[in-house]
Amino acid sequence: MLQPGTLWQNWGRSASDHPKHLARPANVDEVIEVVDFARTHGLTVKPIGAGHSFTAIAATTGIRLDLDAVDGLIAVDGNLVTLGAGTNLHQLPALLAPHGLALANMGDIDRQTIGGATSTGTHGTGSAFGGLATQLRAVTLVTADGGVLRVSETENAELLPAARLGLGALGVLVDVTIECVPAFLLSAVERPEPMAAVLDDWHGATEATDHFEFYVWPHTDTVLSKYNTRLPIDAERSPVGRFAGWWEDEFMSNRVLAAKLELGRALPGLTPAINRFATRLVGDRSYTDVSHEVFVSPRRTRFVEMEYAVPFDAVPEIVREIHALIERRRWKISFPIEVRSAAADDLWLSTASGRRTGYIALHRYHREDPAEYFRTIEEIMQTHGGRPHWGKMHNRDADSLRAAYPRFDDFVTVRDRLDPDRLFGNAYLERVLGA
Ligand SMILES: Cc1cc2nc3c(=O)[nH]c(=O)nc-3n(C[C@H](O)[C@H](O)[C@H](O)COP(=O)(O)OP(=O)(O)OC[C@H]3O[C@@H](n4cnc5c(N)ncnc54)[C@H](O)[C@@H]3O)c2cc1C
Repeated sequence: MLQPGTLWQNWGRSASDHPKHLARPANVDEVIEVVDFARTHGLTVKPIGAGHSFTAIAATTGIRLDLDAVDGLIAVDGNLVTLGAGTNLHQLPALLAPHGLALANMGDIDRQTIGGATSTGTHGTGSAFGGLATQLRAVTLVTADGGVLRVSETENAELLPAARLGLGALGVLVDVTIECVPAFLLSAVERPEPMAAVLDDWHGATEATDHFEFYVWPHTDTVLSKYNTRLPIDAERSPVGRFAGWWEDEFMSNRVLAAKLELGRALPGLTPAINRFATRLVGDRSYTDVSHEVFVSPRRTRFVEMEYAVPFDAVPEIVREIHALIERRRWKISFPIEVRSAAADDLWLSTASGRRTGYIALHRYHREDPAEYFRTIEEIMQTHGGRPHWGKMHNRDADSLRAAYPRFDDFVTVRDRLDPDRLFGNAYLERVLGA
């Protein structure tokens, strides 16, 4: 089953590796075979999802385990849906539609695998909704000893708060059971608004809207707000027309964005003017469609990203601080800053663990050096008790993360129990969890 490893790069071109071997198991038994081989040959194993993490969390020098073939629908029991962990999120609408079900919430894209997305704490927005891992009810893991471990509310339940969001550190997820919801529509209102008004109304907008987010355009006083409201599936649909959808989501948000980023890179002094111009071209539309069509947009222009989870109430102050800092430092930032929210949850390493959360995400074109921008703003985030997204760029290590997560050591204890020899280890996990 093992093939020679080949050079690999993540989507954002911010991480790469050259594993010794590549394995494409087709089922649980073959996953166990690879894990046993690795253990007896002193190699590490690292499952790969869609390679959409910006950190080197999925990098390995040992065996890369591609779970592409461990995908699809395994069982449906009421709202509980069991899927192969290698299932990509974009496969879900077709798999769930015959059962009248949908994911309760989603992030911006659907390229990730369910195993990869939940392992890093992927989230969307909505202050009454948790991230994808909070929707998991049970998981099946192949552990370092080659055993199959079922974790649910009735089996090994003490491991559930760790296994639902495990950073790939506890074993290979082979299947996951998600609690879905009845399929629903989203009514979307997108419009440019003055930044000051949106920040002043942060609490009001997040409480009045199921899924609220906004994008701050640096060098302007305008944000693009998105208000998504849940409607029953039989409510009237008014999808974006084919041309309007192509214009906004494909042409403006990808092709024009790419041209604008190249121009800003060649002539950084033009960035503020380009951003001001861009705020006049995007947004200002309303439509109603099935949930995944509204939650998800294509992202074809490559970028790198750092995202911090911060206390919900601190969001307006931090956004103002970042906005002012960009001007003070005279940075030319062409990519918008994305602001979202989530409910508190009880997963030990969730960025929303134990607190209602705001998310602030910074992006840079992948051909620009993000180091100074990200590192300086990371200090602000840290001052406010921020927690970095596990799949997005940051500079934190185990000592500083231990202070940010009350249950950090409980997670490490579970890791020590399930993977004492770090079969699933890599340099990133050593940095963020310790050796
Ligand atoms: C364009 C873009 C948009 C994004 N939008 C969002 C967003 O809206 N919200 C958000 O929160 N994040 C977002 N992200 C980040 C992304 O969701 C996460 O980084 C996610 O982990 C990527 O999933 P993946 O399948 O590519 O996993 P990978 O990056 O391939 O892997 C992530 C981790 O999961 C582990 N893993 C994968 N499969 C398994 C398995 N079967 N068993 C055990 N461990 C496993 C890997 O070993 C690795 O540790 C975005 C990223 C990009 C590039």
